[in-house]
Amino acid sequence: MTTEQVCTEEDWERAVKVLAGASEICLACHVRPDADALGSMLAVAHALGARCGSPPTSPSRSTAPASIIASFGDRPFDVPRILKFLPGTDLLSTPEVFPERPQVMVTFDAASPDRLGLLEANAAAADELIVLDHHASNTRFGTVNLIDDTAAATAVLAFELVGRLGVELTRDIALGLYAGLVTDTGSFKYSNTSVGVHELAARLLQTGIEPGAVAHELWDRSPFGFLGMLSAVLGRARLEPDAAAGHGLVWTTVTRGDRAAEGLPYESAESVIDVVRRADEADVAVVLKEDDDGYWQVSARSKGQADVGRACVALGGGGHRLAAGFTTSGPATDVIAALCRQLAIVAAPAGGR
Ligand code: AMP
Ligand code: MN
Ligand code: MN
Repeated sequence: MTTEQVCTEEDWERAVKVLAGASEICLACHVRPDADALGSMLAVAHALGARCGSPPTSPSRSTAPASIIASFGDRPFDVPRILKFLPGTDLLSTPEVFPERPQVMVTFDAASPDRLGLLEANAAAADELIVLDHHASNTRFGTVNLIDDTAAATAVLAFELVGRLGVELTRDIALGLYAGLVTDTGSFKYSNTSVGVHELAARLLQTGIEPGAVAHELWDRSPFGFLGMLSAVLGRARLEPDAAAGHGLVWTTVTRGDRAAEGLPYESAESVIDVVRRADEADVAVVLKEDDDGYWQVSARSKGQADVGRACVALGGGGHRLAAGFTTSGPATDVIAALCRQLAIVAAPAGGR
């Protein structure tokens, strides 16, 4: 992720041409989708459906004039509960019915093919693969790469694509894009929040979507058991003041046992990082989330000193300078030790500039 990634006018024109000529368009976002991945994909699905004069089609429905299939490569195939309010989730297909060799495939918010999970092979076999993404670590695995690491969210790029398709911005399209934008900017709190981000948010809100209702769905609700789980998880948070070249690291784990004790799904672990990162003493915050297969899904955040993106890429993951992740297994303390070794290299020493 050393070079800057910004797509050109030619890239956009080629993407629009490829989409215009397709009779079948297959959309896929990254596994365990967040609002940016799923919201961007559903927005483009609605736009392509509108362009074709029909809504996105489910696999059982007729496919004229261009069929649109949207999925992600998880088994079991569960739409995260907090994203079920997004319009179009009922039209998603399971990865099993995704064409093995798509004519045209578009990926959303996936920095590398492995982030497509079960759909990685489908992407490799696609005649044309349009990669829509904003990760600096993107491996440019498409035949057309619409990658801009200065974009705050993939939703910014999806908005651009919708406009270039000549489709009117509807409330359904805007809702998916807004959910992505508000998620990847941490409710317009993170440093990627810019004038352009707020201008786009204003444009999306003009369609009549209610920001309060979106925030409520995404962050302001949980089953009661979440409180018990959070208590256990925060109670064992550890501070490593010397880590990240002296900038400090705070971390905790969310195990399958923590979730099982309260009957909670994996996705309930996702928001824990937003609490853990509050600790003033640490530049870096890390949460190890045990998924249902027993792997650690690691979330890392930096407040600016450490480059967690580079550290996570070195450990087989991806992400951005200030928000990144990787997948691993083994004792939690070993995982943190490995991350600390990487952070010792990629963080400027405390006190220095
Ligand atoms: P998260 O902590 O899941 O919100 O993810 C933060 C950032 O890191 C996002 O941009 C993700 O795309 C990226 N990321 C998270 N987990 C992984 C992973 N296992 N492999 C690659 N990238 C990841
Ligand atoms: Mn994402
Ligand atoms: Mn994103």
